[in-house]
Amino acid sequence: MQSGSISRRKVDDLENVVRDVACTVCGCVCDDLIVTTAAGRIVRAEGACALAEPWFHAQGDQQPSVCCLNGEAANVDSAVGTAAAILSDASNPLIYGLSRSSTSGQRAAVALGDRLGAIVDTTASRCHAPSIMALQQVGESTCSLGEVRQRSDVVVYWGANPLRSHPRHLERYAGEPKGTCVPRGREDRHIVVVDPNVTETAAIADTHLQVAPGRDFELLWDLRARLAGLPADASATHGVPAETVDAFAERIRNARYGIVFFGLGLTRQQNGHRDVEALLQMVRDAHRHTRWSARRMRIPGDVAGADSVLCWQTGFPFSVDFSRGYPRYNPGEFSANELLERGDVDACLLLGCDGIGQFSDAAMARLETIPTIVFDDATVETSWVPDVRFTTAAYGIHLPGTAYRMDEVPIPLRPVLETEYPSDEEILQQIDARLTVRR
Ligand code: SF4
Repeated sequence: MQSGSISRRKVDDLENVVRDVACTVCGCVCDDLIVTTAAGRIVRAEGACALAEPWFHAQGDQQPSVCCLNGEAANVDSAVGTAAAILSDASNPLIYGLSRSSTSGQRAAVALGDRLGAIVDTTASRCHAPSIMALQQVGESTCSLGEVRQRSDVVVYWGANPLRSHPRHLERYAGEPKGTCVPRGREDRHIVVVDPNVTETAAIADTHLQVAPGRDFELLWDLRARLAGLPADASATHGVPAETVDAFAERIRNARYGIVFFGLGLTRQQNGHRDVEALLQMVRDAHRHTRWSARRMRIPGDVAGADSVLCWQTGFPFSVDFSRGYPRYNPGEFSANELLERGDVDACLLLGCDGIGQFSDAAMARLETIPTIVFDDATVETSWVPDVRFTTAAYGIHLPGTAYRMDEVPIPLRPVLETEYPSDEEILQQIDARLTVRR
């Protein structure tokens, strides 16, 4: 096992304690966990929330073969050869996922896609794709979670329920922490939730704006009018009382440092990109009065890293097509779910399976009929038998690496367990070397 800068103390002959471990289960990437291992297992994960704890404790439960062909254990050489043949024979291969990997694996996947002339898409295309499209139109008033922690006195969660999706977000960044400008922590912060439902976070918020389902755009436009000093729109159909909207606009104006975190409740509506554009424009309007930022609540642990790697390799964050020998970007046309629904791909390499739960039934049905190559760690099983399955080491459990937190701050990942499993990068590079087709 690597030691490097790992702060480690031998408790007894059986237990090791590793401090400052980063968790990649959600986009918070909390990097303050204390993990205790014994006999090749994680026995304690202090600081892990209810989402993370089962994942840490599941490490080592299953020990599947490194490679399987049609569900049967196989050696690495034949599995790599079969995967290379599937991808070489495909006329329109798809590489999808990437958000449970790390920078090195993501880079190897993009390189493979480039050489194959494949389409490379990430889990963002079924989550925050509308936000990314909106950011490209309007721009982004951005900040780090460190700034939020130190400065924010008004925190808005719009279409997000972090107490369920990101359980430590409030504790670490936006609710409880005491900061330079908020010395009393939670007492110095006003938390607003905008959501049609009374969620767990809405229940502990100071203000809950119960917007009518699908009417966020109308509410945002009403807010923009009030921030501009225009009169209330009496015909507004967003369902929030006029005096509540006025009070919210006043709070936005009077904040010393405000932040809006927005989630899938906003982005996954029918015209989610328009809703996010309106939110980003509202934040820009708020700058006439005070300092405000907007940030996405990213779900998977390293989806922000997948965006970053694709951007620096191709110029585009997701849905990238290499079939013409250069990268082209067109969400919808080159998005995995839609490609599968249309039957436009004839082989698929999944670098992590967590995103396929968001596929439509039609896309999933198509996926199960085409040759598939799956990469994932030992804790993940698929609902179908892929043609080739590689079980790879998990970054942040077995391997060092980098995960990009939801605010795009890179966080180093520390290994806590030894493993015989290879990295996804190693296997991807071996497949790359065995391709018989290079476009
Ligand atoms: S909040 Fe997210 S990153 Fe933090 S411990 Fe929980 S699952 Fe892990």
